[in-house]
Amino acid sequence: MVNEMIVSIASGKGGTGKTTIATSLVLSLTNVQLLDCDVEEPNAHIFLKPEIKETEKVFIPVPEIDEEKCNYCGKCAEICVYNAIAVISPKDGKKGKVLAFPSLCHGCGACKELCPQNAIEEVNREIGMVETGICGEIEFVHGKLNIGEAMSPPVIRQVKNFINSEKTVIIDAPPGTSCPVVTSLKDSDFSILVTEPTPFGLNDLILAVEVLRKLKIPFGVAINRADIGDNSVEEYCEKENIPILLKIPFSKDLATGYSRGITMVEILPEYRKHFLDLFIKINDLKKIG
Ligand code: SF4
Ligand code: SF4
Repeated sequence: MVNEMIVSIASGKGGTGKTTIATSLVLSLTNVQLLDCDVEEPNAHIFLKPEIKETEKVFIPVPEIDEEKCNYCGKCAEICVYNAIAVISPKDGKKGKVLAFPSLCHGCGACKELCPQNAIEEVNREIGMVETGICGEIEFVHGKLNIGEAMSPPVIRQVKNFINSEKTVIIDAPPGTSCPVVTSLKDSDFSILVTEPTPFGLNDLILAVEVLRKLKIPFGVAINRADIGDNSVEEYCEKENIPILLKIPFSKDLATGYSRGITMVEILPEYRKHFLDLFIKINDLKKIG
């Protein structure tokens, strides 16, 4: 019996085949939901072609200063670790000024809380959107960060608000090891780290492994283009006792299909069984983890 769980697909760097694995995994399972949390560059929809049913905007609250009330004490600028607010004190008969930089603001609300003059109100600033839809039996959710915005975690959190606990949830995480990745991976029951057998692949894999160990999320590795490169990834996994869950050899057909928005299991249907086996394997590893 395979239970519902949250499985995130991550990689230390982009272009390793993370979305290839995420989309083919959802197409191989039943009662499943896909969340594309790579909100700066979501592309699972290109492969799954979902019918989008609803769209909601994502906002963060940013400060707006009432300079009638402000006495330019500077407390708001002191508290803001993101330098999203600056205070110019009145000097030589010139009026002071409070400058807010909304694009740097993380919407934490600390400045409003600490303003002794109650001179700060919060106003919503739109930073992106979340779209939900269906692709056959698959529930589909993805986020899109507006171009030029840097603050992806609020969009990712809003995507994750749609997690359906009655389904197996597959999360396509952003590449890398920074804050958006941690936001995406948090609360996963298991993570699949996708890598390539190259020195760059190994370097980024080691960083991703550190993140998952800190988050205490059980994980295994999938090696893409497994037959080109060297053995260093496999040697590292053996040394670190990390299970290798799947090896996908290079295929020209897959590469061509990818460039045309065709999923791996559509090109190589026999992989549905491999993905199903992979899922059963991680369900067992999750219990051990
Ligand atoms: S904390 Fe309030 S009163 Fe002080 S400078 Fe900022 S907005 Fe003005
Ligand atoms: S809400 Fe937080 S991040 Fe934004 S300006 Fe205020 S203290 Fe800085």
